[in-house]
Amino acid sequence: MLAETDVVIVGGGLAGLAAARRLHRAGVPWRLVEAGDRLGGRVATDMVDGYLIDRGFQVLNTAYPRLGTLLDTNRLNLGYFTSGVLVRKGDKLLRMVNPLREPTGGPGTALAGVGSLLDRLRFAALATGCATLPPSRLLAAPETSTETALRRAGLSDAIIEELLRPFLSGVLLDRELATSSHVLAMVLRSFARGRIGLPAEGMAALPRAIAAPLPADLLDLDTPVAEVAPGRVRTQAGDIRCRAVVVAVDPPAASALLPALATVRMHSYTTYYHSAAEPPLAEPILLIDGDRREIVANTVVLSNATATYAPAGRHLIATSVVGPTAPPEPTIRAELTRLYGRSTADWTHLTTVAVPQALPAAPPPQGRLRKPVALGECLFVAGDHRDSPSIQGALTSGWRAAGAVLDELRAG
Ligand SMILES: Cc1cc2nc3c(=O)[nH]c(=O)nc-3n(C[C@H](O)[C@H](O)[C@H](O)COP(=O)(O)OP(=O)(O)OC[C@H]3O[C@@H](n4cnc5c(N)ncnc54)[C@H](O)[C@@H]3O)c2cc1C
Repeated sequence: MLAETDVVIVGGGLAGLAAARRLHRAGVPWRLVEAGDRLGGRVATDMVDGYLIDRGFQVLNTAYPRLGTLLDTNRLNLGYFTSGVLVRKGDKLLRMVNPLREPTGGPGTALAGVGSLLDRLRFAALATGCATLPPSRLLAAPETSTETALRRAGLSDAIIEELLRPFLSGVLLDRELATSSHVLAMVLRSFARGRIGLPAEGMAALPRAIAAPLPADLLDLDTPVAEVAPGRVRTQAGDIRCRAVVVAVDPPAASALLPALATVRMHSYTTYYHSAAEPPLAEPILLIDGDRREIVANTVVLSNATATYAPAGRHLIATSVVGPTAPPEPTIRAELTRLYGRSTADWTHLTTVAVPQALPAAPPPQGRLRKPVALGECLFVAGDHRDSPSIQGALTSGWRAAGAVLDELRAG
């Protein structure tokens, strides 16, 4: 293949697709080349024995600002989780809900026993500040690690270790809570302002919906890019000449294609999927471990939120572990028996999905969560490592990179 176009986008994950959408809207000739046999990158869903198995438990937050530009989330038929968590503490299951989204659960949460009442009020004040202050103010605040920010907010060891570390480690994929406090602020903002849910057809419905308006003949699958240079992209099938290149691959691949980029450490995540005839809980709510065992980050009955995740009469449970070492399934099952407080002997282990390079680490300093996307010589970079490590970060980075391309092409 020897082709020519104005812009080549390398990588068909959320960042690459968002970039394609903006260039397409602007009427600029473009082409997207993706190494894999499908679009969506780290957002993928497989059908296993009639169950929808996402490649690692992940959720869509409706408060992500970039979603609205790219799709109508109503068309994903999202099933929603309760805005809150259940915490296993000894023989108790404590329900902590977000009073802004679940007003009837608020008083119970204030009285529930994770941390002191003062802790819960301080955390509510922190989350409310993140939800209501403009992002420009949140991102101008002094930056530190997540753990330091929580301690500086006056939160006790009890609420950090029994609620916030298990909960946030499952979101940031970072048990050390070394992630930047600016990322924490944006995470708390999204959780306070939005709802989290799963599309009826699995998380892969998200990239599918974003790609839907794009002409299929401009999306080259099974086309790994070996090299990029100003004005040229080298694939196994030949070179594509172009005016600009957007490298929208995952962080390790980005530093291979663009050696000038700093390498980014990646966090690992493993999700164990079980099926059961009876759901261990009736509610679509995340269950976390307040007993400080730090094996399981969270467990949830997915089919309580979105019934299509399991065949009729069955239920799907996803249990996630953060870090490079994933315990054997029997260890996880023993934890599940304790966490849910009931036998799991009749559950079926469907599969385990390990994602060794799930999310880029984002320690301070991350500044305003806007790393440069224009590298000079008409080379551009997008991906969740340029903004916040999230679906929102990937989409925004792609949108931003395409905007920078358009500025450059107009200027040239
Ligand atoms: C298990 C898991 C759980 C998560 N949970 C959440 C969550 O709950 N909420 C949230 O907001 N975010 C979550 N995330 C993060 C979110 O999924 C990612 O931030 C986002 O999908 C990254 O998109 P991207 O386009 O930047 O990169 P990617 O999705 O990695 O896309 C990059 C694409 O580039 C392609 N590529 C790589 N090399 C080449 C090459 N040489 N040539 C051509 N193509 C190439 C890849 O095949 C891939 O398709 C989770 C991620 C994982 C893995």
